[in-house]
Amino acid sequence: MATQLQIARTGMISEEVKFVAEAENTATGAFNRRVDIELIRDELAGGRLVIPANKLHLKANLKPAGIGRILTTKVNANIGTSSIRCSVEGEIDKMKAALDVGADAIMDLSTGGDLDQIRDELLTQCPVPFGTVPIYEMIKDRNVEDIDSKIILEIIEKQAKQGVDFFTIHAGVLKEHLPLIENRVAGIVSRGGALLAKWMLYHNRQNPLYEMFDDLCDILAEYDICFSLGDGLRPGAIADATDDAQIAELKTLGELTFRAQEKGCQVMVEGPGHVPFDQIQYNMEIQKKICNSAPFYVLGPLVTDIAPGYDHITSAIGGTAAAFYGASFLCYVTPKEHLGLPDADDVRAGVIASKIAAHAGDVARGLEGVAVRDKKLSIARTNLDWKTHLAESLDPQTAERMHHQACKEIGDEDLSSTDYCSMCGKAWCSVRINKEIRDGIRKMVRQENCEISL
Ligand code: SF4
Repeated sequence: MATQLQIARTGMISEEVKFVAEAENTATGAFNRRVDIELIRDELAGGRLVIPANKLHLKANLKPAGIGRILTTKVNANIGTSSIRCSVEGEIDKMKAALDVGADAIMDLSTGGDLDQIRDELLTQCPVPFGTVPIYEMIKDRNVEDIDSKIILEIIEKQAKQGVDFFTIHAGVLKEHLPLIENRVAGIVSRGGALLAKWMLYHNRQNPLYEMFDDLCDILAEYDICFSLGDGLRPGAIADATDDAQIAELKTLGELTFRAQEKGCQVMVEGPGHVPFDQIQYNMEIQKKICNSAPFYVLGPLVTDIAPGYDHITSAIGGTAAAFYGASFLCYVTPKEHLGLPDADDVRAGVIASKIAAHAGDVARGLEGVAVRDKKLSIARTNLDWKTHLAESLDPQTAERMHHQACKEIGDEDLSSTDYCSMCGKAWCSVRINKEIRDGIRKMVRQENCEISL
């Protein structure tokens, strides 16, 4: 009944470690990497890599994924109902849209409808790590003030038995941190953080998740559910980034990381939020220092507050920097962020934006083999090989649709022979002209070699 962390500490290589190595090495043929299996085991044993894999989900349909700096940066998509829009089918559509464009994990943040049924149905069809924020269910049909230790343990245990692979647990926000948010622009924007702050103020007591942390560790270890230590005090505005409240909570998350790992639990740590570009490197480095290099799971981060409707872009900019400087796991942000509940199209756009950020970060940090796909696409582009060009793209569906439309504009329906597009037109197509130049250079070099040998 040992956890992945405990197995790795004994020096053994689990089936899940083998699977992660294989998946990383062959990942849909997109990458060309050789990740050493012993290195994955060692990173796991050191708490720098996690494989969130509830034993029950593993028995059902889970294909485990690894999250850590030696691996490619992974992307999570949040889905879930609200009290305003609530349909299981709608959430399944969102999950499928996310998986279709390469989401590596799914979090169900449902707050409306029959939460158990929604979670069950999603899990049944979810082949990737699946996370939840259990406190959302704890306040279903009751006031947050009425939560007690019995309810907390019951909900956690129930979701564990359903097969959830990672739990966001906001155990790091403490009563003594609350005065630190007084001067903030945006206060507490994390739903879990806000609920727990309300509970602490009402009861004038410490965060119950902090006080019960050892009990939570026992349950999570039993099922090998990975902690995702929530940042209840994450900044929700650029003006609040890297403030005393955020750093104070991070220090508590560091303490909890050690405690959970001591008890054999896998741990990742959640991070901000809204962070100006120039503070991202510091945020990545300080988390590593304080949290024993546990994988950092960041929401965005969004690098500006002025782009509602485009926050998948502001977060992809921050996500690229985060992936470059130290994050292992990016939580996507959709264009609907701050505006409304996303639909399947928003989910798709959000995942694509985060996948671009993750990949760009991996290319920039020189992760072995990840740029092979870029080169393959560049060669296809240079050769006007549209078929490969489109197939190798991150979102072939969108690329194909756009290219078809462009071909129609130039009156060419035969995609394979098209040697320019509507962007520059035939005479100005530098790719086509380049082909002619290269042919010309080759011809010239051949002639000169011929003359020299004569
Ligand atoms: S026409 Fe312009 S955009 Fe289109 S393939 Fe040629 S160089 Fe590229």
